[in-house]
Amino acid sequence: MDTKFLTPFTHRNRDVRQVVGLRHDVDDVYGFRRGLPHIVSLEEIYGVRSTFFVRVDVICSGKDQSVLKRLVDGGWEVGLHLINTVGDSRLPSPASELELLQSFIGQQVYGVTPCGKTIGFKGEVTWRVMDSLGLNYMEGYGKPEFEAKTFVMPTHLSFDIHYVRRFGEVEGYQKFKEDLMQQLGRNGVATVLVHPEWFVRSVQGKGLLKIPLTLLRKGLMNKVYDKFLCEFKDKVDFKRYIEIYHHLKAKE
Ligand SMILES: [Zn+2]
Repeated sequence: MDTKFLTPFTHRNRDVRQVVGLRHDVDDVYGFRRGLPHIVSLEEIYGVRSTFFVRVDVICSGKDQSVLKRLVDGGWEVGLHLINTVGDSRLPSPASELELLQSFIGQQVYGVTPCGKTIGFKGEVTWRVMDSLGLNYMEGYGKPEFEAKTFVMPTHLSFDIHYVRRFGEVEGYQKFKEDLMQQLGRNGVATVLVHPEWFVRSVQGKGLLKIPLTLLRKGLMNKVYDKFLCEFKDKVDFKRYIEIYHHLKAKE
């Protein structure tokens, strides 16, 4: 192991390998059908498995369902990316979203994250809605103020929409790496979010500007995510969220 890499780390169990949970939020059909295969093939190259948090409304056809099922059979975890984050009675209930996702994959779902696109994360209300699903873990922003039954995962680093969008591929990766190493040094564990849609569309620029950026292949996550997996694969253990959950529960 590269010892130089470990010097800034002050974690008390220096001999214990640090773990990084990989999260992908599947927010739209485009991300699911076009972006997700890029992530899967990159992770396959490095023998890595991650967790895809899926909105139930992106699974529109029998073919989508079988893609999702194959993903689970291949060792990836599928979690719920909750649309109805406040339990609004005009939308399908959070419990019915969970039930539908479980029926798609034909097995249990272990965790939930809130989707920012429809209603978004609404603090305590969303924590309570997620907690009511009775799953193993949940992740939002920070921690709830009440004592939740569900395990709360550490808040993710937004590799794409924070670092690469704001600072570009080179500087963004550098800043991401610094924050990741700092978090690993402090806790021995970190979680990282990357959306599949940014493997086929530029994460940089707004509106119409995205088109030329995409054509120039600027601000796409492919190279930078590849670089991240390649550079860290021997230094940390990449894990699915359910594994991070078991890892952190064991330390409690
Ligand atoms: Zn989302």
